[in-house]
Amino acid sequence: GLPAVPARPLAARRLSRRLQVGSVAVGGDAPVSVQSMTTTVTADVGATLQQIAELTASGCEIVRVACPSQDDADALPVIARKSQIPVIADIHFQPKYVFAAIDAGCAAVRVNPGNIRQFDDKVKEIARAASEAGVPIRIGVNAGSLDKRLLAKYGKATPEALVESALWECSLFEEHGFRDIKISVKHNDPVVMINAYRQLAARCDYPLHLGVTEAGPAFQGTIKSAVAFGALLSEGIGDTIRVSLSAPPVEEVKVGIQILESLNLRQRRLEIVSCPSCGRAQVDVYKLADEVTAGLQGMEVPLRVAVMGCVVNGPGEAREADLGVASGNGKGQIFVKGEVIKTVPESKIVETLIDEAMKIAEQMEDDGALS
Ligand code: SF4
Repeated sequence: GLPAVPARPLAARRLSRRLQVGSVAVGGDAPVSVQSMTTTVTADVGATLQQIAELTASGCEIVRVACPSQDDADALPVIARKSQIPVIADIHFQPKYVFAAIDAGCAAVRVNPGNIRQFDDKVKEIARAASEAGVPIRIGVNAGSLDKRLLAKYGKATPEALVESALWECSLFEEHGFRDIKISVKHNDPVVMINAYRQLAARCDYPLHLGVTEAGPAFQGTIKSAVAFGALLSEGIGDTIRVSLSAPPVEEVKVGIQILESLNLRQRRLEIVSCPSCGRAQVDVYKLADEVTAGLQGMEVPLRVAVMGCVVNGPGEAREADLGVASGNGKGQIFVKGEVIKTVPESKIVETLIDEAMKIAEQMEDDGALS
């Protein structure tokens, strides 16, 4: 049978404390999880649960919902109960919503004690309530909401300023014995962000939530996030990730999963190894790659499918894959595990590849390659 590709990450993981966000472990040796945030009005329970269901189906493992009003807080119990994945309430300034989120059964709360303290010093009560309920707290520092004191000290949101701010926020909980904390230090500039997380990783053992804020529209945001997360994850830094895009949250999840798969931090699923095409191509490689990708959508097995435009490099590359095609002369040579199993006319390439992929997938499932 065909063995599953073993996941071999680039670096040993930084040793962080392990937290439990509902059913999902974060930190320690827990797999790096992918999260996103709903864009619906949280008080609109139906729409929010619908979006959470879509996120869950796309592979999202933890979801965050904003809680800026009492109506939103009132919706949390139903959302927390009906969501298939752990729900984190995102709260600014208002301690009463923090207590409401904990009572509602939210798996975690994102809140900065620094801005709570400015209004009403309930940090001690929050630490006690969270601790009793087993609810961790994420402290989220970012460039836009940096403490005035630190802005004055550093002039702008430097990595040092972000880290000092985060550690100061942590200390406000630590003085009450509360340590179930994860931290983010986000910035829209990947270079500042990478430096901030590196420094933070060296100075504490809290699990880290990676994010590039305001990363931008899908194309730019995907690249910024992939570059920044890639640099950090390849050094073993990062326990949970959120890709921020000015695009539907399901897109954030797809990008996040692809980043983790690229780094072998999670089992790769379908992977299309297609050539960029060149003057030697005897087939429309882009179209063929798109059609094969569409035809194999939703395959859960770790399958590597090569789509090559010609028979010069084609067979060599196709041989490295589970399955592949090298086109030429109006025909396609179909490879399975390095052997040419048949040659088909160009019009039959896509359906033949899909058929063969299904056969391999069935065999993998029979062999328990996924267990
Ligand atoms: Fe060009 Fe052939 Fe290589 Fe594709 S496989 S890039 S067509 S040489």
